Amino acid sequence: MSRVAIVGAGYVGLVTGACLAELGHEVTVVDIDANRVEQISRGKCPIHEPGLPELIKRNANHRLHATTNLREAVCAADVTFIAVGTPSHIDGAIDLTAAKASAAAVGAAIRANPKDHVVVIKSTVVPGTTDRVLAPLVADASGKSAAEGIVVAVNPEFLTEGRAVRDFLEPDRIVVGALDQPSAERVLALYGALPPGVPRLHTTRTTAEMIKYASNALLATAISFANEIADLCASLPDADVVEVMNGVHLSGYLSRLEDRNGTALAPLTSYLEAGCGFGGSCLPKDVSALVAQGRELGRPTPLLSAVLDVNARRADELVRVVEEGLGSLENASVTVLGLAFKPDTDDVRETPALPVIRRLIGAGARVTAHDPVVRALPDGLGDVSDLKLVESLESAVARADAVLVVTRWPQYEELPALLVRIGRSPVIADGRRMLDKSGVERYNGIGLGRER
Ligand code: NAD
Repeated sequence: MSRVAIVGAGYVGLVTGACLAELGHEVTVVDIDANRVEQISRGKCPIHEPGLPELIKRNANHRLHATTNLREAVCAADVTFIAVGTPSHIDGAIDLTAAKASAAAVGAAIRANPKDHVVVIKSTVVPGTTDRVLAPLVADASGKSAAEGIVVAVNPEFLTEGRAVRDFLEPDRIVVGALDQPSAERVLALYGALPPGVPRLHTTRTTAEMIKYASNALLATAISFANEIADLCASLPDADVVEVMNGVHLSGYLSRLEDRNGTALAPLTSYLEAGCGFGGSCLPKDVSALVAQGRELGRPTPLLSAVLDVNARRADELVRVVEEGLGSLENASVTVLGLAFKPDTDDVRETPALPVIRRLIGAGARVTAHDPVVRALPDGLGDVSDLKLVESLESAVARADAVLVVTRWPQYEELPALLVRIGRSPVIADGRRMLDKSGVERYNGIGLGRER
């Protein structure tokens, strides 16, 4: 059992904290958001993440504590994770303000209570950041180096929002970047209760940071690849990207014939599907950060730049699909289904819904939106202030001229049956190709060429 402090109680920090508490460690999460801290202390979960409320309820004030007092939490711990946000600057490079402030504050707390300590960088930072920026900050503020018992390691997080608890407790890999094997072992010991079969990789800090970026860049590339093929299909009579991708998935590189009864598809195939483009707090930011780093290093990354360009064009294609079905958007009533960037989360950061809503409003449409869990958009989005949010799916679609599916929430599979029940037949623009088109009178979807 270790005593662990976690700086930043967001999606990553809170999931890490609750799961480490569940594994038997004594955990204190630290956040500058007093409201969030108060909720966690009361056993409440401040975010929508399946399985997390149960873990917080079970461990709060037992093995899971929350505070705004970083110094106290770090002084009482042997290991401190830094899991604060690393958002994008306008040029794509990451903003290290919170990570740097946390590294300096953790170092200062270590100076106040000198003993061996492991500092683990969990935030996603571009390759080289820990060596060049964060580890020196910890060393300066603590007055101690690795030789004096202060280890700074990198342990990137690969969890996916919506299944973060499962990803943490059943990870596909644990990557630790550390200066030497004993330092890596101290981090890996925290995960000792996880199944022994989980691959554990010890490498350099910079390589560990790059593994995180390379993993996300590959997923983003797969998505943009499928979307580029989708747009070609949309302009070819009788081509359908869903069938194209099903055929691609059956390639022996992506699937294995299990037995006579079925084929096992590699999970990567779920990224090789046409859709509304990638969003969320990771893929857009991480690909942009690598492109920015390539620029800075004088090593251009044209492939990744194209991945971003293809993604940025998704909103135009979605609007085109709606417009093709409706004729004109001027004064049309359009309902957008889904605001979260993916199902099973309330996270709307970089959601593909927002650029498409902006364009629809810009083209003169009256836009209504529905989401099963998102009840409001963040403040400060003045240009979409005319957007109407409706809680019931039935009322959201009842008066629509067109309905655009943006987030693959399973509840939206019921849409064709709902429309039959209420006797309505708006244009359905399926941005996820998730509906049974045979049950829809006026169906249009991305990557679907018109019939001859
Ligand atoms: P988040 O915005 O949900 O959480 C960050 C938290 O840190 C917030 O609660 C904020 O109040 C707090 N914070 C900011 N400055 C602080 C400070 N100085 N002291 C204490 N708390 C502070 O972010 P997130 O989604 O959890 O991401 C955190 C990091 O993990 C980022 O680098 C991100 O790229 C990476 N990551 C995120 C995911 C994901 O799916 N969300 C997955 C893997 C990696």
